[in-house]
Amino acid sequence: MPEYEPKLMKCPACDHGFESKLVTGFKIGDKDPDFCPRYLDGNPLPAFLHVCPECGFIGYESDYRHMRDEKVLKRVRELLAGFHWQKGQALGGAERYRRAALIAIYAGKRSAEVADLYLQATWCSRMEGEQDDDQKNARRKAVKYFELALAAEEFGADDLAVVHYLLGELNRRLGNDKAALEHFAKLDALDKVEPWLKEWRDRQKALIEKA
Ligand SMILES: [Zn+2]
Repeated sequence: MPEYEPKLMKCPACDHGFESKLVTGFKIGDKDPDFCPRYLDGNPLPAFLHVCPECGFIGYESDYRHMRDEKVLKRVRELLAGFHWQKGQALGGAERYRRAALIAIYAGKRSAEVADLYLQATWCSRMEGEQDDDQKNARRKAVKYFELALAAEEFGADDLAVVHYLLGELNRRLGNDKAALEHFAKLDALDKVEPWLKEWRDRQKALIEKA
């Protein structure tokens, strides 16, 4: 089991106070080609997002501390009203990440942060054995928001190789071979790409060429 410690939280959307738990330790073995961690002692990802039992707000611990702009919170509350929350409702990891991504969009967070939430939704979806369509929907959204983040120049030069590799792999998994190959090819034009990333790129690219 991952390790946890109790933490008191105050919901930014409804002011309700409740006890949640912080992840304090977990073990990762390998990673899948889309960077999905293979946890050795259980998946801690759902617990990185805290769910307000009163109103259904979902966010990282930092969101609970920093989401204080009243205009932002008004939009988020409108979104939450559409979720038809039942007090104390339990949510699996994939659903937590999908809802957190929507909240991030309504809160005006950067596209890179939204993309990362959708990517983690696909990982939880896989670990929780959801239907393939659920994984694909979140994956399409991850691709869309990673593309928007690239267009808005949200990534530093050091991150570009990883982002293009990931967009290559996510597009490959969606059957978008042309887009996948275009992103994989971008690594050749970048300086200082880590050798392991080029190896992973070559391996995943070969899967397209073999098909
Ligand atoms: Zn709340």
